[in-house]
Amino acid sequence: MTVNLLDFDLEGLTAFCERLGEKRFRAVQLFRWIHQKGASRFDQMTDLAKSLRERLPGQCEIRGLQVLSQQESADGTIKWLFDVGDGNAVESVYIPEDNRGTLCVSSQAGCAVGCRFCSTGHQGFSRNLSTGEIVAQLWFAEHFLRQRQGSQERVISNVVMMGMGEPLQNYSALVPALRTMLDDHGYGLSRRRLTVSTSGVVPMMDRLAKDCPVALAVSLHAPTDALRDELVPLNRKYPLGELLDACGRYLPHAPRDFVTFEYCMLDGVNDRPEDAQALIALLRRHGGNGVPCKLNLIPFNPFPDSGLACSPRQAVLKFARLLNDAGIVTTVRKTRGDDIDAACGQLAGDVLDRTNASERMSRRRVEAREVPVTFHRT
Ligand code: SAH
Ligand code: SF4
Repeated sequence: MTVNLLDFDLEGLTAFCERLGEKRFRAVQLFRWIHQKGASRFDQMTDLAKSLRERLPGQCEIRGLQVLSQQESADGTIKWLFDVGDGNAVESVYIPEDNRGTLCVSSQAGCAVGCRFCSTGHQGFSRNLSTGEIVAQLWFAEHFLRQRQGSQERVISNVVMMGMGEPLQNYSALVPALRTMLDDHGYGLSRRRLTVSTSGVVPMMDRLAKDCPVALAVSLHAPTDALRDELVPLNRKYPLGELLDACGRYLPHAPRDFVTFEYCMLDGVNDRPEDAQALIALLRRHGGNGVPCKLNLIPFNPFPDSGLACSPRQAVLKFARLLNDAGIVTTVRKTRGDDIDAACGQLAGDVLDRTNASERMSRRRVEAREVPVTFHRT
């Protein structure tokens, strides 16, 4: 397949241009045309030497993702479903707020971690997205929104890697994508406004700290190894003690001075007052002076066949109060719009039904969303 320029961070694009005998400043020009101006064709790039403009189409292309559907909530939340080929699709969600716009981006088609409460996890793993496929979600959303708003100004100020997939299990594609998002010639996001959320791939957390330290969110979900082993199977490989130690090692490199822990509230599973006490004890043990953190409680978003239910509102509030009283800053993830299906953990979207090869092209709709859209705030 032809080289896709969305696969390159600026360093990669520079190397590519050098192979074509072009200088670095040409790579910067190209990069800016693509990411800052949203160009998808070389003939749009008017200040590029004509000879290069004519030569590039034979060497490479700017290949975005095909949009399969777009759904918009009354409150402005937008969900896109993108085709990534072979019957796989991934979703991105745009969440506008007064003073910022956040895009929730996918890193894999499906996910191999297989968390009990996650619809993506239930789908199983299809494949890693390429750097270009990760970046294409932002490239499309940013320029679509700018065009719609008739604005030259940046619309998306924050990106959270909280869509489908475990970003740290797709590390080599993730890092150049993050660099493109951060680059002043690209999207110019600040490190504090770019968040990687992980279920706890400990060795890759250490690598991220060195290679590209951005804000970190860690999906905790349980106060004990016994329970976390059940909810997040990766815990059997990297148990809580190791995970919290890795958070402690990450923080000195991080753009924020705390880690956000995410905790999905599951009725009767991890939401009782004794769970709150165990969590307080865990975070004090490792927290104390070790891991400054904030806790974000996410009401569970149900999906078919999960066998789980969302904690009652009262239980969520009580849990939050216990944690806050113990000095652990705890928020409940804000709920937005209830008319599109964009909630975290529900991003299976329209996916290929892998259970029946003869129905390969039939798309299965994930239904039964009684709960309003929640979005990811770190
Ligand atoms: N794989 C990464 C990032 C994607 S999931 C991770 O697990 O961190 C983003 C967040 O949504 C995670 O905190 C995840 O635990 C949470 N989540 C998954 N399924 C959910 C569901 N059904 N309801 C609420 N939150 C869910
Ligand atoms: Fe994968 Fe995250 Fe879902 Fe777990 S919660 S299955 S790690 S996407």
